[in-house]
Amino acid sequence: MFLTIIGVLVFIFGLVFGSFLNALEWRLFEKKSLMTRSECTKCHKMIKWYDNIPIFSFLFLKGKCRECQAKISWQYPIVELVMGLLFVFVLFYYFSFADFSILSIVRDCLVIFVLSFVFVYDFKYMEVSDTMTLGSSLLFFIIALFLGSSWFSMILGALIGGGFFLLQFVLSKGKWVGGGDIRIGFLMGILLGWKLLLLALWLAYIIGGFISIFLVLSNKKGMKNEVAFGTYLTVATFITMFFGNQILEWYFRLIF
Ligand SMILES: [Zn+2]
Repeated sequence: MFLTIIGVLVFIFGLVFGSFLNALEWRLFEKKSLMTRSECTKCHKMIKWYDNIPIFSFLFLKGKCRECQAKISWQYPIVELVMGLLFVFVLFYYFSFADFSILSIVRDCLVIFVLSFVFVYDFKYMEVSDTMTLGSSLLFFIIALFLGSSWFSMILGALIGGGFFLLQFVLSKGKWVGGGDIRIGFLMGILLGWKLLLLALWLAYIIGGFISIFLVLSNKKGMKNEVAFGTYLTVATFITMFFGNQILEWYFRLIF
């Protein structure tokens, strides 16, 4: 019972953070102040608080603006729902261990927020927000020190992750990778440490390969042929964060 109540609360927290993510992403791209109230992206009328409740308002308004009937993007409820579910996932992930710290749960929820933000932003605009990647790198580095992570592993990871993409950037004069990937690589190193970073990079290429094959085979008109690489990097980072050690264990048992 206690766990259910906590779970529901954490889910609502996730929804609210998802809603915040949608708002922040749009404001950062449009270079609007963070202090302004939410407005319809079409008719620019203020959105009333009861039309701005995560998921429910979207369903209630049938995905349309109350004032101008413009369609509201599916991105809004999807991001909210996914964030809610991921926050609950973090909670249960830690509850499966005998000992855990609240700080770890809060940190991982923040990491998920940042990774989701980078994912949505890169997917939509083919751009990486420096504010998110570089700003959060410092924050997560400090939190990780409190949690007893090795500063050496994080710094080495950041140098390898950033350097890996910097090298490709220089060699291809910016054709193979974007400058944003360098900063995502840096952030990945801080989050994962050097060992898991290598796994995450490898995973990103595997996921990217599969999705590219799928896109080529399906070759649907109107479908984006290119998906920003940063989206694969964020997904790979998420998987590695929670399952990286199990994947490595499984892999080494397979070889030896
Ligand atoms: Zn409108």
